[in-house]
Amino acid sequence: MTTTSADLGTQKYEQLAAALRGDLIQPGDPGYDGARAVYNAMIDKHPAAIARCRDTADVITCVNFARDNGVEIAVRGGGHNAAGLGVWDGALVIDMSLLRSTTVNPEEHTVRADAGCTWGDVDHATVAFGMATPSGFLASTGVAGLTLGGGIGYLARRFGLTVDNLLAADVVLADGTLVTASENSHPDLFWALRGGGGNFGVVTSFTFRCHDIGEHGTVIGGPVLYDMADTAEVMRWYRELVPALPEELSGWIALLTIPPAPPFPEALWGRKACGIVWCYTGPHDQADQVLEPVRSYGSPLVVGLQPMPYTALQSAFDALYPAGLQWYWRADFFREISDQAIDVHVKYGQRLPTGHSTMHLYPIDGAASRVPEDATAFAYRDGGWAGVIVGVDPDPANADLISQWARDYWEELHPTSAGGAYVNFLMDEGGDRVRAAYRGNYERLAQVKRRYDPANFFHVNQNIKPAGG
Ligand SMILES: Cc1cc2nc3c(=O)[nH]c(=O)nc-3n(C[C@H](O)[C@H](O)[C@H](O)COP(=O)(O)OP(=O)(O)OC[C@H]3O[C@@H](n4cnc5c(N)ncnc54)[C@H](O)[C@@H]3O)c2cc1C
Repeated sequence: MTTTSADLGTQKYEQLAAALRGDLIQPGDPGYDGARAVYNAMIDKHPAAIARCRDTADVITCVNFARDNGVEIAVRGGGHNAAGLGVWDGALVIDMSLLRSTTVNPEEHTVRADAGCTWGDVDHATVAFGMATPSGFLASTGVAGLTLGGGIGYLARRFGLTVDNLLAADVVLADGTLVTASENSHPDLFWALRGGGGNFGVVTSFTFRCHDIGEHGTVIGGPVLYDMADTAEVMRWYRELVPALPEELSGWIALLTIPPAPPFPEALWGRKACGIVWCYTGPHDQADQVLEPVRSYGSPLVVGLQPMPYTALQSAFDALYPAGLQWYWRADFFREISDQAIDVHVKYGQRLPTGHSTMHLYPIDGAASRVPEDATAFAYRDGGWAGVIVGVDPDPANADLISQWARDYWEELHPTSAGGAYVNFLMDEGGDRVRAAYRGNYERLAQVKRRYDPANFFHVNQNIKPAGG
């Protein structure tokens, strides 16, 4: 039985506010609308209160308050989730965004990051030492949500997913206790956290293994863009090339509209294109040889490959995709990029509904696919790609247009997929899609859920129901 602010009364929240180091922001407060806004402007939720936690004690206080008063909670890390699961109507939002400190141990090659960090915060801290831990393709995404779902990025081919580099997590459980989950401490919880999302508790900090990359953190990367008319040919070449490449080189393929801004030549602004964004993290004296097949292929419109700090590549798309746009996306994993799939990509690539809308395929092979399927909760380890069809636009009037395009595209592409999607690329798509995201790992996740959260207190997420419930 859950309660909302209207029937809980203000006195309880006054007591909560007094018990916190951080602010408690409620409807009517000047900062309320800013605090409830998330990255995807299509999400318009009205929480009962938003607790900007200052420390772990604040998180424990919020968990105990919500549990004892029957209040729903949502947990917000970076606020990037496209389904908007960091906020919820009538809920107490446990907002981690003020907890952003990082501690790098260069000798041990580790970084500890608070759960409110973005990947920009972590990369900034580690690249100063020439190291990085695998993350995603954007600096503004939250460490917490991305890690708990798996973490797919440039370094996955060489060093695995983000979860494959997670060494420990501090977690506030539903009963308010704080535990450290690692291979040696609560190993069942640690297994579930590596892909199982926010189902098991509120993570307050993560410790990751780091790796030396490039030349003291300088990698060779950037986009190579081809005319949209070349899409079928480029995709056929790309699907054969990537598995044969050294793991120091990775690249994700996209269908896009060339942004109307530098560094793209003005003559190409607004032109539809098929592009690959490459990232080479190996020694620079071998770069020419490794990148030769990329440089020598086809008739590119743009070759943007150049040495740059890893942080620059990670943040290259942040300005293009600021917070506050309308987002609707649909996703799946793909064992292969089949000819049938390529036909669908060609059809819907030509119909990109807005300048920001796009389609991406991210490789999940190499080190990421050598991890056994049941070693972590992240289940799609058998090589291939994570695909996402992304309808985006600044104008709310185009919300239906971008959503319909993404849905239609997905309907035609889905039969070529491996069955399920990356959990962090799901919208609100129902329990069957959550099950499909975890394949054979779902039942074990449900058992761990029963052990750590039998009442399903943490349910504002891609929800895993406790076994036997
Ligand atoms: C533009 C964009 C680019 C992206 N790029 C990538 C990418 O390259 N690679 C990739 O793998 N994913 C990517 N994603 C997906 C991303 O991983 C998810 O959206 C993820 O949920 C974002 O995490 P967050 O902390 O910002 O989310 P939030 O919206 O804050 O939270 C999302 C969910 O995570 C859980 N959560 C958040 N914080 C905590 C916590 N401290 N403890 C427990 N649970 C918590 C909650 O259950 C919440 O429901 C991208 C998303 C967007 C919108």
